[in-house]
Amino acid sequence: MSDKKSPLTGWSSVAVHAGHQQDPKYAHLVPIYASSTFVYDEAEQGMRRFSGKEEGFIYSRWGNPTFAEAERKIASLEAFGLTKNGSPFEVKGILQASGMAAITTLLLSNLKSGDKILTHYSLYGGTEEIITNVLPALGITAIIADLRDLNKAEEALKKDPAIKLLYIETPANPTIQCVDIEALSKLAKQRNLIVACDNTFATPYLQQPFRFDVDFVIHSTTKFLNGHGTAIGGIILGRDLQFMKTKAYVMAKTLGGSANPFDAFLLINGMKTLELRMDRHCNNAMEVAKFLEKHPAVQKVNYTGLPDHPDHKTAMKQMRHPGAMLSFELKKGLQGGIDFMNKLNMCVRTVSLGTCDTLLSHPASMTHYSVPKEEKEKYGITDGLIRMNVGIENVQDIIADLEQALN
Ligand SMILES: *Cc1c(COP(=O)(O)O)cnc(C)c1O
Repeated sequence: MSDKKSPLTGWSSVAVHAGHQQDPKYAHLVPIYASSTFVYDEAEQGMRRFSGKEEGFIYSRWGNPTFAEAERKIASLEAFGLTKNGSPFEVKGILQASGMAAITTLLLSNLKSGDKILTHYSLYGGTEEIITNVLPALGITAIIADLRDLNKAEEALKKDPAIKLLYIETPANPTIQCVDIEALSKLAKQRNLIVACDNTFATPYLQQPFRFDVDFVIHSTTKFLNGHGTAIGGIILGRDLQFMKTKAYVMAKTLGGSANPFDAFLLINGMKTLELRMDRHCNNAMEVAKFLEKHPAVQKVNYTGLPDHPDHKTAMKQMRHPGAMLSFELKKGLQGGIDFMNKLNMCVRTVSLGTCDTLLSHPASMTHYSVPKEEKEKYGITDGLIRMNVGIENVQDIIADLEQALN
């Protein structure tokens, strides 16, 4: 929450000011506290800090003033405008070294051997890897279903009482498939399950999962929250403040995937422009989708903002705007994709997302080059598929670059 006296009512006001505390040396911005340890005035103070009787920093793997400002800011944004029994809704975050570190902390602090996870089949590759290849060795397994179909979700829940946690990622990376957070959370809560949502693609500006009774929200802050592609980072946020201060905190500091102060500083300053950037990203994405839809070299455009996308209704139900990510299929297949990528001038040939610049990737020749054909087809990856993070440049320049590369 903000330290300012009057409550902040606008989204960007919160993004700019929330979480800030007056610096003891009167620096305007939070300093980069590049210090592994923190000192004590006297031995007794050390005793009080270690025993938790006095608040204060001890060791940067356990917490750091620069991380704390980022944690308070993201918590304020995820809780923005929400209330609980008439009072402002509060969540607590723990900043981590990466989105994957945040996901690991979430899963290991909530699950034990014998527990099961219910999840959708389209997930970020690293998340899928940990769920299918790492957790089974610890006795934690997953039921993977098409959670866009609520009947299938309910059936899976009925069949298996060992399911303890529902894990969703919406929109999913990279397919942009969306699942209904409210409906799935309701089904899970009827059985007292824990619900976690990866909100990386949407950011709290476009979507607030805590609105729908979700227990935990995860971000890869590497993407739109940082916004400039300058650092890797992640955060786990929870509504059960006691759990966050005890089990989640102990797991985070023990696993050791802690953030670092320089990256936290970049993140704090990147987030101040989140609303401005997301509005521009999203408006540009809609314009680009409409341009591509009409282009004769393009077979199909996948954008949840277009009414014919199968997840359009779900996206519009829970998101302020369908986002900055889209993909499209070129009629000329693999060679068409390679030729198109080679002709790009301003737009950047790379993977990842959430940066100011427009990024394009061609999975068939890049990320998924060595993946078997049937595996690719499961995720809708055809030879001519191009993925796009629509940036914040002026849209006429993005469209002009695409047009010259398509012709
Ligand atoms: C990138 C990403 C992750 C992993 O985050 P890192 O910061 O790369 O560890 C997790 N979930 C989603 C949806 C992502 O896009």
